[in-house]
Amino acid sequence: MGVLILGGGLAGCSLAYFLDSNSVILEKEARLGGLCRSYQLNNIIYDIGPHALFSKNKEVLSQITSLTETNVLRRSNKIYHKNRLVKYPFENDLAALAETERDYCLKEFLNNPYEVYHPHNMLQFFLKTFGEGITKLYLQPYNEKIWKFDAAFMDTQMVERIPKPPKDDVIQSARGIPTEGYTHQLYFHYPCEGGIEQLITALAKRIASKTTIVNPVGIRTIECNNKCWTVETDQGIFTGETLINCMPLHEFCTYIKIPQKVQTALNNLKYNSIHIIVLQARKDNMGDNFAFYVPERNIIFHRISKMNFLGKNYCLKDKGSTIMAEITYRPGSYLADLSRDEIRRTVIDDFDKIDLVKKNDVFDSEVRTFQYAYVIYDLDHRKNTDTVLSYLANQKIFCCGRFAEFEYLNMDAVFEHSYALAQKLNEEL
Ligand SMILES: Cc1cc2nc3c(=O)[nH]c(=O)nc-3n(C[C@H](O)[C@H](O)[C@H](O)COP(=O)(O)OP(=O)(O)OC[C@H]3O[C@@H](n4cnc5c(N)ncnc54)[C@H](O)[C@@H]3O)c2cc1C
Repeated sequence: MGVLILGGGLAGCSLAYFLDSNSVILEKEARLGGLCRSYQLNNIIYDIGPHALFSKNKEVLSQITSLTETNVLRRSNKIYHKNRLVKYPFENDLAALAETERDYCLKEFLNNPYEVYHPHNMLQFFLKTFGEGITKLYLQPYNEKIWKFDAAFMDTQMVERIPKPPKDDVIQSARGIPTEGYTHQLYFHYPCEGGIEQLITALAKRIASKTTIVNPVGIRTIECNNKCWTVETDQGIFTGETLINCMPLHEFCTYIKIPQKVQTALNNLKYNSIHIIVLQARKDNMGDNFAFYVPERNIIFHRISKMNFLGKNYCLKDKGSTIMAEITYRPGSYLADLSRDEIRRTVIDDFDKIDLVKKNDVFDSEVRTFQYAYVIYDLDHRKNTDTVLSYLANQKIFCCGRFAEFEYLNMDAVFEHSYALAQKLNEEL
């Protein structure tokens, strides 16, 4: 009778690490890690979207980076805007824009009629905080591309922590004096080798003596009788007095009976899936940069990144680069139905179109698709998430992790949440 953890992603593995008691992790896939798994193309390792380690919480960051050796890298990200490269964040490099667009952004920022309003959705927040120019040229198209959702139908939970850029910084940036924004992400860590999955490997080693890991496993039923949880699987029956769900809510709720009201709320929780396309090319025009954000609507991907930036272990030996493109899509939308070949062809054509990688230089590529990538903060997200989570909490089911809590949690936040939950359970058990 111990702790049953359902899902062996970062949340499940870090929970087992922080718990004093023994636990059992039941993981569906043959490999632990969930979104923190890494893959290889011609021995070059890549993640499900490059996973940079950074945090405002220095204690958590040092806890994570103590698990494995990391390189510390300085951000070098660009926004691809109408054939120009603008340093990220956009408002810190307005001088890179054409003169009329630069003035549009600066003047609307300094004389912003929306400043006085309380924002009720993401679009209003952008207009209030950044003004019309920066919103219309970059923030709105980029966000609508990654979320595949109209910014007027998204709430402000995710953006409300974004500080208003200092006026002087934006004025300087328009004059051609570059400034830095979002400084907590300016430097980031990345494992020296093995990709982000190295974190999971390190955690798996540390939890081995106190954790039973069962994978791949097919869960059949979950029941609770007399305060004892019983999980029946294709690998046997597991029991525990504490049940922690770390898998996506949409998956977990298929194993239990929930009232209609909760089912309706669950059905209305929206998320994006993602196609990850990796290309290897003899040469490219991306320079010594890591990521490029691409707000242009006629280009299929929203972000591209160059693995070479991450260190010598991520570079092809005989020169050339490994480049990743990311395409989000809502399940059921037209992008969900594209075949791998169509995706690959379109991505290569679009790289060629924006002249960052020429078609003829690509010598290998692969496409992978992942169902749960981003929680969408639509206008009803809070209400629906609270309905589902409060029902589960009343059933004494703990939830921890990105899709288990249905929040935009990065790795540092997952760590924070699993640490807090483990501390609470360590005291109780
Ligand atoms: C494209 C992309 C880029 C990202 N970049 C960054 C970044 O740069 N920096 C950063 O800090 N974070 C980043 N993240 C976020 C990071 O990946 C997550 O915060 C973290 O991996 C979430 O871990 P988790 O354990 O909560 O969820 P998951 O990784 O989703 O784990 C859930 C686990 O449950 C398992 N499961 C599902 N169904 C079942 C079932 N029926 N039975 C048993 N097990 C099941 C899954 O297989 C999986 O292992 C990124 C995420 C994405 C999608």
